[in-house]
Amino acid sequence: MKELKQSAFLHPLMPPAVAIIGSGITGLSVALALSRIYDVTIVARDLVGDNESHGWASPWAGAGWRPHIGTSDEDIEMQKASFRYMWKLAETNPECGLKRVKSIDYFDQVKDESLVWYKDFMPGCRRLPSTELPEGVTLGFEFQTVVATPSIYLQWLKDRLSASGTTFVRKELSHISEIKDVVPQVDVVVNASGVGAKYLGGVEDELVEELRGQTMLVRTKETTVICRSGDLYAYPIPRLDGNAIIGGISQPGNTSTELDPALRTEILRRARLVTSPGAYPEKVEDLEIVQEIVGIRPGRIGGVRVEKEVLQTPPVVGMKVVHAYGVGGTGYKYSAGLSKRVADYVDDFIYGDGVVL
Ligand SMILES: Cc1cc2nc3c(=O)[nH]c(=O)nc-3n(C[C@H](O)[C@H](O)[C@H](O)COP(=O)(O)OP(=O)(O)OC[C@H]3O[C@@H](n4cnc5c(N)ncnc54)[C@H](O)[C@@H]3O)c2cc1C
Repeated sequence: MKELKQSAFLHPLMPPAVAIIGSGITGLSVALALSRIYDVTIVARDLVGDNESHGWASPWAGAGWRPHIGTSDEDIEMQKASFRYMWKLAETNPECGLKRVKSIDYFDQVKDESLVWYKDFMPGCRRLPSTELPEGVTLGFEFQTVVATPSIYLQWLKDRLSASGTTFVRKELSHISEIKDVVPQVDVVVNASGVGAKYLGGVEDELVEELRGQTMLVRTKETTVICRSGDLYAYPIPRLDGNAIIGGISQPGNTSTELDPALRTEILRRARLVTSPGAYPEKVEDLEIVQEIVGIRPGRIGGVRVEKEVLQTPPVVGMKVVHAYGVGGTGYKYSAGLSKRVADYVDDFIYGDGVVL
């Protein structure tokens, strides 16, 4: 299949080589955006199928698609690009682990409706009248969105990539220069290492911040994703298979991957505050818990880093890198849109970002 990737005009013999560090939702999505043109190798410590490893975030996500407000125009464009792709994919490839679902967004601090950019974008969006808002909620919207079942969606992405010739190599790097041991002729490196960007030699980004999450996968008849943000953070994310993730715990700087049993009651309390009476039982003992989950979200103070850099420090002087990390609790949400931007940066590195006459 490799010959399919050759660009007849620019690279008659060999397509440019791109190495991606990281096989989470970010690395896989970037690979999908690049694999039609480039020779892509994914190098990662944790690979698809490692569903019990806490070394990465992707298997542990909710993973709902919720639009975020209060961001830049550029960020909104990235969200929109991502949503369009995932919305369509849920229809064309239902086996991929994405499903369309009704969603409600509650704000308990925001009052200004003009901040809600997605009013005219998310399918079926309507502002909820005050009579439909729970106590303490200042603004609410209902719309259609998508949810992912991580184990299925990650595997689907991996299978597509493998079929089109992407190579997967399991390796933990202590320094970014070690990528050359795997792909000696690498043209561009994409750094999608999540929390790893904090510790990877040659990157060591001190702004990267671990955000501990704890959730429960429970049996439910509920079919609406609800997210409340502001003073109260709570989200039930039904997966339309009889299960829902309930959560709302975010603990910055906490790297413990041990389950905290005391949080069960708090998670349930929050779920009950945003759902109708009877949706979830009053006591944890009455919940049908399928799985209890702890995961570390790869946050970054100042937000996601999608950026080109030519490294200047030995032993990697001149190495071309596109950074793609720091997506925090929104990696699935950003995935397809972020990968489009990364692909543009890779193209800039390979072909230049202007035309010389
Ligand atoms: C409880 C919880 C709920 C969540 N809910 C949602 C949600 O509803 N919606 C949503 O969009 N997101 C959600 N998220 C966030 C989402 O899981 C993350 O944003 C996303 O998985 C990050 O993906 P990533 O590929 O950037 O990083 P990761 O999945 O962490 O992958 C990092 C990759 O880099 C590799 N790596 C790191 N360091 C090295 C190294 N030194 N050498 C080699 N390889 C290395 C790892 O092995 C891994 O392959 C949730 C997360 C948690 C924990």
